[in-house]
Amino acid sequence: MEFDTKLVKVGQQADTRTGDIVPPIHVATTFEQRSQSDLRYFYGRGENPTREALEECLASLEDAPHALAFSSGQAAGATALSLLSPGQRLISSDDVYGGTYSLFSTLGKYGITVEYTDLTDPDALAATLGDDVGMIWVETPTNPLLKVADITALAALARPRGIPVLVDNTFASPALQQPLALGADISLYSTTKFISGHSDVIGGALVHRSDDYQRAFFAYRTAYGNVPGALDCYLLHRGLKTMSLRVERQNRTAERLVAQLLESPKVGAVHYPGLADHPQHAVAARQMSGFGSVVSFEYLGDPQELLKRTELFAVAVSLGSVHSLIECPALMTHRPVPPETRAALGISDRLMRLAVGIEDAGDLAADLRNAL
Ligand SMILES: *Cc1c(COP(=O)(O)O)cnc(C)c1O
Repeated sequence: MEFDTKLVKVGQQADTRTGDIVPPIHVATTFEQRSQSDLRYFYGRGENPTREALEECLASLEDAPHALAFSSGQAAGATALSLLSPGQRLISSDDVYGGTYSLFSTLGKYGITVEYTDLTDPDALAATLGDDVGMIWVETPTNPLLKVADITALAALARPRGIPVLVDNTFASPALQQPLALGADISLYSTTKFISGHSDVIGGALVHRSDDYQRAFFAYRTAYGNVPGALDCYLLHRGLKTMSLRVERQNRTAERLVAQLLESPKVGAVHYPGLADHPQHAVAARQMSGFGSVVSFEYLGDPQELLKRTELFAVAVSLGSVHSLIECPALMTHRPVPPETRAALGISDRLMRLAVGIEDAGDLAADLRNAL
């Protein structure tokens, strides 16, 4: 079965009693146990049929045996980090998502150190690898500068040492990038973004191939209770059905807006992996089937004024939904990052980020042109 068919079909078996072509939503928190020999479903914090249907579909999208859904991308991340032991080092991309920084900042008291490294350069990883490294956390493309790391090259360095490579695949989505096929061990998603696609669910997922991880993650999730509810799982599964269509349209519109930005006298550098002069364009072209719908650029006017002038682009954080959004990282998503760190990462006060939705491309182009 091809990817687009899986989106619509996997985990969507017709109900045998009624023939519903959309499976019912299972909201029960507990399940009858007349026969104690069949405890397939026991209690909703552990097992839930609606959640499992979503997980079955998410796993199939990466040809993986396992996926687990969580109450947020952060919850998925915290669960993945539970693989680490005191004394270990975590090597991470240097410009990870802001929430990921917050999550990592909690690790010190467990005796785990985090080493931020420019993972667009595999040699930088090779230079710091050691037996005390417990995990490599790769975000690609990154936020907001759309830096791209070569997953295959990083995984080739980690594999001989048995170090798991986790790829935060939120920005690309499984529609554009398949981390496990490229050699990674765990794909992490904030399903809040492209998988929900409608800015109305917070969720997360881990997709992987290891029976050992599955036991560990499931036990962690059941113990800590960071599970998503059935209604959210239903919405996420519904969102998946249109993901390819949305992503395709979003990418096409993003490319049109990038071309317009390049022509504008009010715009400096434009960051988009689809541009031939993007530093990792060749890697992106090799490992992604499209360049995505997040674009950032230097605005030569006043960012606050630009944010006041857009009408169709909502001024809001997040990405991957049907709604087009604009934000200024220094004022919004990256405000908690110290100004010196932002400067070192190349996130200037004039950097703007677009997350392109599915509105008419001409309308969006006109809105952006007016605002600029
Ligand atoms: C949003 C996001 C997260 C966190 O996900 P939540 O669903 O908000 O908890 C993690 N990584 C990336 C790249 C994100 O964009």
